[in-house]
Amino acid sequence: MAIKLKSKREIELIRRAGAVVRQVLERLGAMAAPGVTTAMLDAQAERLTRELGAQALFKGVPGRGGPFPGTSCISINEQLVHGIPSERAFRAGDIVSIDYGCRLDGYCADAAVTCMVGKVPQEVRRLVAVTRRMLDMAVELSRPGPLWSELAGRMQQYVEGEGFSVVREFVGHGIGKEMWEDPKVPNFVSPDASGRDFRLEEGLVIAVEPMVTMGSREVVVEADGWTVVTRDGKPSAHFEHTLAITADGAEVLTA
Ligand code: MG
Repeated sequence: MAIKLKSKREIELIRRAGAVVRQVLERLGAMAAPGVTTAMLDAQAERLTRELGAQALFKGVPGRGGPFPGTSCISINEQLVHGIPSERAFRAGDIVSIDYGCRLDGYCADAAVTCMVGKVPQEVRRLVAVTRRMLDMAVELSRPGPLWSELAGRMQQYVEGEGFSVVREFVGHGIGKEMWEDPKVPNFVSPDASGRDFRLEEGLVIAVEPMVTMGSREVVVEADGWTVVTRDGKPSAHFEHTLAITADGAEVLTA
């Protein structure tokens, strides 16, 4: 594992890319309403990316389902991540994960948010709130010194204590010149991953992205080769920020 720590100048460049990510996610989130399709959101993401002088990171990423066709990943309800923008329209009561990343002046930022469309059932709202809180915990607990597994353990314990499940198949990642850099940033602790644990230190920049399911944590990939859904069809939520570890804590670069 080769972790590249970032200079203040590099963190500034990631912060600028992060400002684009934040603007795009805010605009897309505001559009998510009954009758609006996920393709309409993605068209807006593509337009904004161009207008803001950035390059989309997800479009063309190779996968089992061929190159990813969207600028953003939009995943509804039981869809966890990697939803392909389509003619599917939002309905009141849906929860929608919007994941977007871009490169600006050579540096990348990546974030995701789960939005609610209309009136969402109480238990689903709680799922969204707990997942957001799991990300907030990562921000609050991050500082130079601890091993990542110490934080991930507390985050996992919180979520499982609320009766929800933490997905194992997908994890966060280091980020910088590339969207995916070392280290891998899991939202859980597993004994077989102890050799891949890492210590938080100043200059580390990571994309932390909790994925939480209401029922079982098992997920499957749909026939399109991209869309990840919960096996039991129950809702799932996803939040992500790119954050830099600084001398006195963590700075969210996509807030
Ligand atoms: Mg990511």
